[in-house]
Amino acid sequence: MALFKRKDKYIRINPNRSLRTPEKAKPEVPDELFAKCPGCRHVIYQKDLGAEKMCPACGYNFRISASERLALTIDSGSFKEMFTGFESKDPLNFPGYKDKLAAAKEKTGLDEAVMTGTAKIGGQDLALAIMDSNFIMASMGTVVGEKITRLFEYATENQLPVVIFTASGGARMQEGIMSLMQMAKISAAVKRHSNAGLFYLTVLTDPTTGGVTASFAMEGDIIIAEPQALVGFAGRRVIETTVRQTLPEGFQKSEFLLKHGFIDAIVKRTEMKETIAKLLAFHGGAK
Ligand SMILES: [Zn+2]
Repeated sequence: MALFKRKDKYIRINPNRSLRTPEKAKPEVPDELFAKCPGCRHVIYQKDLGAEKMCPACGYNFRISASERLALTIDSGSFKEMFTGFESKDPLNFPGYKDKLAAAKEKTGLDEAVMTGTAKIGGQDLALAIMDSNFIMASMGTVVGEKITRLFEYATENQLPVVIFTASGGARMQEGIMSLMQMAKISAAVKRHSNAGLFYLTVLTDPTTGGVTASFAMEGDIIIAEPQALVGFAGRRVIETTVRQTLPEGFQKSEFLLKHGFIDAIVKRTEMKETIAKLLAFHGGAK
């Protein structure tokens, strides 16, 4: 059953407006050959992006999958995946949600929008979570909340630091208030981890927004971000229409956040592994 039902199949906003002629078919270019940089709008030959997927013109860090991120960040072969096999209960019986979940699993090969487990970086043990924006925009539902909470609980018990690569469109609307509750649940687990004197590092990647920003993404002892990553709570247009002001250029980008003291550093993907290894060593790493 649809939540909202339209009376007519099509809505004509202005009946006097002529309908546009359909656009000419564009010449077919294989998707995987070129990429348009969201940072500088240049069209780049995919091969020029390299394994790190960074724009050679402006340094924008393209969105990458959790497994690509894993390969770039950890000591090879050190990842042990944990807390898999949870299924969302679809608490609202939301139309089409089960199909959407199944399609996302099929497309990404992941069981949910976050990958959790233990790994080593620079020979140091840590608990690691990587969110993947290809999975329903890495929105946070009950399963994402449960996996991250368990990761913190495991890390607290085993005296491990936690590193999370965040990426999210926010709370998962298909799970309504259940998804919002994850913010409090995870935050409580973060606090217990912190009380045990353990280190928590967040790496904000493009995009980190909504309920994820409003909870664990901003609770790291140190918060770093990738260049030009979009980080915010509500979207630009929503804020502009609410406060009736035009927001400054670059608003909600890492560089703007660094300037205003919201984050501690911007780290390029090529320097990420080394930086995390240093930060883990500075803060004692695993106890
Ligand atoms: Zn670029």
